[in-house]
Amino acid sequence: MHLERLASSCSLGNGLFVGHIPLCKNHTASASASASAVGNGNPSIHQLTNARLIYSVAPSMGHNQDSHPESHFRLPAILNALQQMHLTSEFRGSEVVELQHFEPASVDDIASVHARAYVSGLEKVMDQAVEKGLIFLDGSGPTYATATTYQESIIAAGAGLALVDSVVAGSKIKRDAPTGFALIRPPGHHAVPKGPMGFCIFGNVAIAARYAQRVHGLKRVFIIDFDVHHGNGTNDAFYADPDVFFLSFHQDGSYPGTGKFDEVGNGDGEGTTLNLPLPGGSGDTAIRTVFDEVVVPSAQRFKPDIILVSAGYDGHVLDPLANLQYTTGTYYMLASSIKQLARDLCGGRCVFFLEGGYNLKSLSYSVADTFRALLGDPSLASEFDDPRILYEEPSTKVKQAIQRIKHIHSL
Ligand SMILES: [Zn+2]
Repeated sequence: MHLERLASSCSLGNGLFVGHIPLCKNHTASASASASAVGNGNPSIHQLTNARLIYSVAPSMGHNQDSHPESHFRLPAILNALQQMHLTSEFRGSEVVELQHFEPASVDDIASVHARAYVSGLEKVMDQAVEKGLIFLDGSGPTYATATTYQESIIAAGAGLALVDSVVAGSKIKRDAPTGFALIRPPGHHAVPKGPMGFCIFGNVAIAARYAQRVHGLKRVFIIDFDVHHGNGTNDAFYADPDVFFLSFHQDGSYPGTGKFDEVGNGDGEGTTLNLPLPGGSGDTAIRTVFDEVVVPSAQRFKPDIILVSAGYDGHVLDPLANLQYTTGTYYMLASSIKQLARDLCGGRCVFFLEGGYNLKSLSYSVADTFRALLGDPSLASEFDDPRILYEEPSTKVKQAIQRIKHIHSL
């Protein structure tokens, strides 16, 4: 496939938030046609050589509930921002590649993390969803499904797997692989092996971790989860696995209430799960310290073959679902620091997966600034962030939390 065909010609108009979803043809096509994608949709060697960022889009436009925060408005808002801020391949040429064709994840891929009974059961209840329009799935936490949820969820998971393929291929032809970003929904990190949970259907990042191991022989996978909520599904999938390090920092006491300091893994996996609950009000200063004193030494000691990221943007100070004070600049810092870590430790192999983020403005600006970080552009966060709405971070409590986790994990 040639670059010209990959160049996005998507143009999203201004009527973004008024019912009609002006999603471009390419994106609806990649969601609906990829189930029968013809040929090899992988980027060429030429594209991989030039690319700094490769992304895939699975907007799941049929998976939506009126006035639900995890809505089908999220991806159009992000794509609109990327377009308006000239961060797509249309403006950035060969530096940015959007994967246009990718396969849905197979049942075997999904079943590497989830019980087969759940996967087949979800497919079966789609008939009910066709009749009723919207159903609620059994399991913990409010998770809705529509007639298209099963199909769109396997496409979303597949969008992540295709990026793992591309990033690994890129790392074979140059020292610094391009970074991947899966712009997908529904999110995945709450989905437990047995079922859905907390707006999440399939554990996209966990499925990608198993895929990287099985298909590419990347034995050691390091997962960083910076969503404001604990990634309990990913946590559970690898709790006893010494080859997958799961590191989550999240708001203490927020949904679903798991992710305490002493949840460190068990059996052979003891020590390869790190959970750091942070006090409400934690912000940019806290996260810079967490990154330097907790994330970096954990990753250096683990020596990963690939880094996967559960990139949730609901820790933003403007997000309605939580009480942290991350700024757009915090997400820029996280992305550039993670990219550097991947460069230092695993040939740059790194894929981000969209998780939460429910204020459409802070979500889309923060993803755009993440793109800038991954492209090596300067941050434009100061154009969006308003320091006047920030209050003092609980620095003593943050310091105590960091000391406690460093002690528990001997960092
Ligand atoms: Zn979240």
